[in-house]
Amino acid sequence: MSARPGRASGATTRRRVRARVEGTVQGVGFRPFVYRLAGQLGLDGAVWNDARGAVVELEGDGPAVEAFLVRLPREAPALALVERLVREEVPPTGERGFTIVASAAEGEPSALVSPDAATCGDCLAELRDPRDRRFRYPFVNCTNCGPRFTIVRGVPYDRPLTTMAGFTMCPRCRAEYEDPADRRFHAQPNACPVCGPTAWLADGHGQRLDLDPRSDAVEAAAQALRDGLVVAVKGVGGFHLACRADDEGAVAALRSRKHREDKPFAVMARDLDGARALVALGAEEESLLLARERPIVLAPRLEWASVAPSVAPRSTELGVMLPYSPLHHLLVDDFARAAAAAAGGPAALVMTSGNASDEPIAYGDEDALARLSGIADRFLLHDRPIHTRTDDSVVRVVEVGSARGPVARATTEPGSRRPLVLRRSRGHVPASVELPLAAARPLLACGAELKSTFCVAKGQRAWVSHHVGDLKNYETLVSFREGVEHFERLFAVVPEVVAHDLHPDYLSTGYALERGVDLVGVQHHHAHLAACLAEHGELRPAVGAIYDGTGYGTDGTVWGGELLVGDLTGFERAGHLRPVRMPGGERAVREPWRMACAWLVEAYGPQPPLPAVLAPWVEPDRWGVIAELARTGFSSPVTTSAGRLFDA
Ligand SMILES: [Zn+2]
Ligand SMILES: [Zn+2]
Repeated sequence: MSARPGRASGATTRRRVRARVEGTVQGVGFRPFVYRLAGQLGLDGAVWNDARGAVVELEGDGPAVEAFLVRLPREAPALALVERLVREEVPPTGERGFTIVASAAEGEPSALVSPDAATCGDCLAELRDPRDRRFRYPFVNCTNCGPRFTIVRGVPYDRPLTTMAGFTMCPRCRAEYEDPADRRFHAQPNACPVCGPTAWLADGHGQRLDLDPRSDAVEAAAQALRDGLVVAVKGVGGFHLACRADDEGAVAALRSRKHREDKPFAVMARDLDGARALVALGAEEESLLLARERPIVLAPRLEWASVAPSVAPRSTELGVMLPYSPLHHLLVDDFARAAAAAAGGPAALVMTSGNASDEPIAYGDEDALARLSGIADRFLLHDRPIHTRTDDSVVRVVEVGSARGPVARATTEPGSRRPLVLRRSRGHVPASVELPLAAARPLLACGAELKSTFCVAKGQRAWVSHHVGDLKNYETLVSFREGVEHFERLFAVVPEVVAHDLHPDYLSTGYALERGVDLVGVQHHHAHLAACLAEHGELRPAVGAIYDGTGYGTDGTVWGGELLVGDLTGFERAGHLRPVRMPGGERAVREPWRMACAWLVEAYGPQPPLPAVLAPWVEPDRWGVIAELARTGFSSPVTTSAGRLFDA
């Protein structure tokens, strides 16, 4: 803290208040905002960050102090979130002027790191202004936008603890960074073409390409895309694989190289008009597309959308997103220009996760080159490291409240449309969730195994992790372990209790057992019910219908289509789908016709005839063997899985 000259105060009405502000208040332009607000109200004092948030000391007239405290949470900057404000009167010191004090790395680090945010309007204007010193600079950002969670290595959130530590600010950037009135005051990733990260284009083996001096790396990448090549693009939370969305040859090549038979690819449109040319959008979808989280939004594909069939085969929907980093904006703008010159019409890019099927997305340069060199023809790279791999979030808008009943009427408007987050990752993480009930002890919840996420909680707050992926993949398991440690450090949670899935063989359960603290085993579907209740702040019991693929039941069988009556602490199994055999166990997941056979045995008795629709794929003899397994139960566990019923 700075020394403050103590001066005798003349005015008798002078008061001094110390306000502790908790929430997302670091790295979001909060202190400059406080500085300006204090200036407007003629208040003296100081503001500083500590490891729990921000502290403001205000001195001046009583009404001005009160006005400040009312306006503070209301007018806070776009990315800030004031969750708690605790004030206390302290004796006036007679201090004059208002100062922003440098960070003190003391106390416990529970200050909230904010999620990554899409490029703001001011930065976008600079990016497109030929007179601006950041014209076409792919890493322009400010306190209102830019990378956050993905570049943070520790707390407090300050440049040395981000992946920007290796870039020393030039005098002009430094001046912005130190000017409390500047939009870039203490913007930790602040950079410019003189001092910051750079982008370059490499061939399919990672060899840097010498470019025509009249074009830059992004422009050259856009040309490659125009020509139908696949380009691996290093983004905010990892690599994308990009190609033009209207070129069946390019998309089919990408699909076959990725070994991704029919999972849909997401598409990046240039802007809202570009998205409207691809999918049917309501007002809710449009505001999601434009939100600073910039998720992939699923929406019905338009019949006339200029999208190759291989982008989303056998799907009537399309996942669309808008550019969320300056590099994306430049790339889609340049591509649209290049493509329009060649063909005309709106242009969109496939932007799918940078991996071969079932692997986690690549986020380190070396790793990306090793894993994607057989897939990408070009690499658009840059030298700002990504600390935490973070996938794009996925959202869909659903109709809610059409159900009748007192609960539906009390909590929702009939027929309203709400976003449903299907994958909560980049842009959302690590924003915290408020718990309806404080955690009695700090805890870690290890989650399941296939679409792994974890969660740490302390008091009333829970931090749900980014989407980690399938823990059976070794690299993903390593990410899971590192992610847990990272979250524990960021939010200063030292778990005294570790919750785990009841499944004894899940790798997440194995990890929980290693931790050597108190363990709580939670039934898989009860965890789904309790998570839903907690998300909606509901403490009362509820009936939950949970339909999923697999979860270990309290009776040791495989559950999956469950009606539970329960609350946060316990449940009863009130109903479930009819139990059937999974002939051959896990093989029935890979060969869904086995489930069709098991359901037919259940419905019609032993040896059902082979349905004509399956005849081209299944030998009658094998059908008979599988029917026999289903009848006898030999090496065929019982399941109530909804996923297996859908398979059938
Ligand atoms: Zn900005
Ligand atoms: Zn600079």
